[in-house]
Amino acid sequence: MKADVYSIKGYSLKEMRNENERGVCRQIEKMIEKDEYKDMCFCGVCLEDIYGLTLNKLPPKYKHSRTLMLKKYKVSESDIQEAIQYAMDIVGKSPNHV
Ligand SMILES: [Zn+2]
Repeated sequence: MKADVYSIKGYSLKEMRNENERGVCRQIEKMIEKDEYKDMCFCGVCLEDIYGLTLNKLPPKYKHSRTLMLKKYKVSESDIQEAIQYAMDIVGKSPNHV
């Protein structure tokens, strides 16, 4: 059996998620419907690139439902939209799809 690389001493860390992931998904869904992006490709590769670049641009907010949330790094909806815009510019200019 393949070892679970997302565990420490047998404790699974798979439930630890970056809180921004959900917000980024929802915002990307909204933004790709906009008229200004109608000519842009949103295939799986491009969406993954946009998603990854956006998350890398934002301060990470890792937490588990049981853990305490650090309020210090507040990411607003406009922070997310700005990061998506940045990612879409990069992916739009040089898409990785074949
Ligand atoms: Zn594409």
